[in-house]
Amino acid sequence: MAKETIFSKIINGDVPADIVYQDDLVTAFRDINPKAPSHILIVTHLLLPSVNDATAEHELALGRLFTVAAKIAQQEGIDQNGYRLIVNCNYHGGQEVSHFHMHLLGGRPLGPMVI
Ligand code: AMP
Repeated sequence: MAKETIFSKIINGDVPADIVYQDDLVTAFRDINPKAPSHILIVTHLLLPSVNDATAEHELALGRLFTVAAKIAQQEGIDQNGYRLIVNCNYHGGQEVSHFHMHLLGGRPLGPMVI
C-alpha cells in the first residue's frame, strides 16, 4: 500500500479541486496545469503508487477508470471528436504523483503521440 498523496487528500476533501465526477471507486478532477481544453485526472481510491503495483484483485477498480473516462468524455462533449487516455509510470514514464491515475485529454487535435 502507498502512502497518502496529494490525490488522497483531494479524494478525502482535505485539499480542494475542481471535481467533475466521484463514485465509490474513483474521483475525477481537472488537472491544475491543463495540457488541453479538457484535461481531467481520473484517480483510483486504491492507494496504489503505479501500474507496477496492479494485480488481478485490482481489475474491477482499475477497469472503472475506463468506464468513467467514457462517461466524462461524453459530459465534456469530446467523445465524438475523440480524446487520449494516458497512464504514466515512474521516472521514465514521467509520473510525478505516485498514486495510480489516468489522464483524459481532449478538446483539440492532439496530433501524433510524441515520444
Ligand atoms: P503524472 O505526471 O502522470 O503523475 O501527473 C500528475 C498530474 O497531476 C500533473 O499533470 C499535475 O499538473 C497534476 N496535479 C498535481 N497536483 C494537482 C492538484 N492539486 N490538483 C490538480 N492536478 C494536480
